[in-house]
Amino acid sequence: MAGPSLGRVDEPLVDPHGRTVRDLRISVTDRCNLRCSYCMPEEGMRWLPREDLLSFEELERVARVCIERFGFTGLRLTGGEPTLRAHLPVLVDRLARLGDGSHDLALTTNGTTLGLLVDDLAAAGLRRVTISLDTLRPDRFVALARRDRLDQVLEGVDAALAAGLRPVKLNVVVVRGVNDDEIIDLARFGRERGATVRFIEWMPLDGGHTWGADRVVPSAEVLAAIGAVWPLEALPRGSAPAARWRYADGAGEVGVVGSVTEPFCSSCDRIRLSAEGMLRACLFAHREADLRAVLRAGGGDDAVADALRAEVGTKWAGHAIGNVSFLQPDRAMSQIGG
Ligand code: SF4
Repeated sequence: MAGPSLGRVDEPLVDPHGRTVRDLRISVTDRCNLRCSYCMPEEGMRWLPREDLLSFEELERVARVCIERFGFTGLRLTGGEPTLRAHLPVLVDRLARLGDGSHDLALTTNGTTLGLLVDDLAAAGLRRVTISLDTLRPDRFVALARRDRLDQVLEGVDAALAAGLRPVKLNVVVVRGVNDDEIIDLARFGRERGATVRFIEWMPLDGGHTWGADRVVPSAEVLAAIGAVWPLEALPRGSAPAARWRYADGAGEVGVVGSVTEPFCSSCDRIRLSAEGMLRACLFAHREADLRAVLRAGGGDDAVADALRAEVGTKWAGHAIGNVSFLQPDRAMSQIGG
């Protein structure tokens, strides 16, 4: 499914700290059909008007410059909830055809509509999927997400596995006193289904600014709890956010994302594009570049490449969570994309 012949190929994008950027996270909408309490207020956020969102053509252009000019190896579609963007399989098809087609193409979703869409997404070229699943208890799901949709999420998990997407990862944001008593149940769920569960430390990126370090469950604590039940062996990490562990009994993998207590910024290879076209060199950045303005001013590939290069050139060493200098960004996670 490779696209037309490659045009000009530039030097890889290397930030001021010597890290090569290879992965673009693309938010295709800021809207969501859930209201997860650690992410956004009950009333939701002020949604972007439709015309402010980057079009599929604009998204494809930015992605094409990243893949074909800078040699990116991965694209991830995020949101809000990306499956709420109409005709998403059309975009997946366009992104899958970029370059020689060897790049990774993944989706992060809350799973509620995956059962309806996954076959079309897989046929269009989606390679793998990450589904948010913070609890297996229907009552707690309603309390956390403020919607009664756990059944649909579980159907989405099974549909993704049945569609042959691999790996299927399950993201669990662990919050002390909320769902930390389900760590073993969720790990078992992944073992039984052949899905990789990743336990994520809650990060200060919530729309309500209610985050507190006292409710962060350190990754080391999660691993100790799981390892006490199923012995684990460490796996090589690479630049991925998650530290990976293999079950010694062969029942697959489990991961932890220790953004707060064990930051991994030194190997970060990611940049992000918000749904309205703001380029962010870091999830916690306090600055961003307006790529939509470049695109809608008639800027060509060179202009997009220059804007990418310039913003990556501003990338800091990493977030400063826990330091007195740390300031939570104005944008919430749902307005950036995971
Ligand atoms: S906090 Fe920023 S620099 Fe650190 S891993 Fe995340 S995106 Fe990369």
